[in-house]
Amino acid sequence: MEVSKRVALVAHDNRKKDLVEWVEWNREALLQHRLICTGTTGRLVEEAISKKLAKGEKLPYGITKLKSGPFGGDQQLGAMIAEGNIDVLIFFWDPMEPQPHDVDVKALLRISVLYNIPAACNRSTADFLISSILMEEVYTPRMVDFSQYIERSIPPL
Ligand code: PGA
Repeated sequence: MEVSKRVALVAHDNRKKDLVEWVEWNREALLQHRLICTGTTGRLVEEAISKKLAKGEKLPYGITKLKSGPFGGDQQLGAMIAEGNIDVLIFFWDPMEPQPHDVDVKALLRISVLYNIPAACNRSTADFLISSILMEEVYTPRMVDFSQYIERSIPPL
């Protein structure tokens, strides 16, 4: 991953306030990176980040807004991770409420582990992540070698 990272931001409804506060607190750091969000999270993040823009000033990279989570946004993010198009995941998921798209949530968490991208699921971890010196450096996550699994022989059908 390059110096400027592709940072995915997602929050469930009960965690959106927390994420927006975190984004406001870390606004300057986040502006160095490209932000990719699920739909509703993206709208709130954009509002929060744009509040302090001077007249005529634009966000350096803009904010990409995918579909809303329950409508496929989490799956879009998962596909982007699998294609190598997301470097960091900040995902404030709700530990207290089941979601209509719980299977998508699980899939997104799984794929972030599989592709070994840095992922923060709560505010403290997000604080540690955003203040890491590695956020300002080129970094290559090591992938587990799955070639044996991919090339495994399948019994004749
Ligand atoms: P939202 O989706 O940002 O569109 O609310 C988040 C989620 O539920 O995954």
